Amino acid sequence: MTTEYGKLTWEEVRDADKDRVAILNVSATEDHGPHMPLDTDTVLGMAVANGVAAMAPDEVFVMPPIAYGFNEHHKDFPGVIWIQPETLIAFVTDVTKSLAHHGFRRILLLNSHGSNHPVLDLAARKTVIECGIICVSASYWNLCADRINEHRKSETGGIAHAGEFEAAMYKYLHPDLVHLEKAATQNLHNPESRFFNLDLARGGGKAMLMRWWSEVSPDGTMGDPTVADAETGEKFLRAAIEETAALVREIRALPLLQRKDHH
Ligand SMILES: [Zn+2]
Repeated sequence: MTTEYGKLTWEEVRDADKDRVAILNVSATEDHGPHMPLDTDTVLGMAVANGVAAMAPDEVFVMPPIAYGFNEHHKDFPGVIWIQPETLIAFVTDVTKSLAHHGFRRILLLNSHGSNHPVLDLAARKTVIECGIICVSASYWNLCADRINEHRKSETGGIAHAGEFEAAMYKYLHPDLVHLEKAATQNLHNPESRFFNLDLARGGGKAMLMRWWSEVSPDGTMGDPTVADAETGEKFLRAAIEETAALVREIRALPLLQRKDHH
């Protein structure tokens, strides 16, 4: 049986193992510097999801992705399509409720765009409350942060948005679509700060301020894409796939518990 949800027939869905983990990638369509395409988050999120499916073909279904996200703060850059967070929560939970209606019990909301993180956390919590199934949210870089740091060449601050991590993986997947000759470093990390850190693999921040993107980046980049190479990109991607597959196996093994109303 295919792992690609969209390629199933309705009879195959009816007869499918409902403990397979349905992976729903939620990404964004937005500026990724002058050196990378608008679809970066979708291409990378789906590369992770499809890589997990190749590793664990009997354990998952990969949903068609939601290629739009919460990113109105990027709209000063041409091309950005933004979705209000309330709309995105409602849309994602309509998908999860549909899956629950058909009997699926285990869902992974696999995030590949930073500002979707809190939105998908809420969507997963709402799904659990409303459907009584297991719904997990995770941003894929958080699953493999230690391994990113083993392989990275950039300093802290070099991996945030269209920086080393994303540029290296996209270059590995589609070398013709990454134009590093147009890339520049925008490392905004302030080592003096005790609380703010937007580096994806070095802890994130204890406190969060998301400014207008055009206030903090002249070309849409945050990080250091100039050191990106395809060889490291392959290592980043392999780490993301293997760690996400490990998460999927944990989700599949989680017990389904019963509520008890103590009124
Ligand atoms: Zn991105």
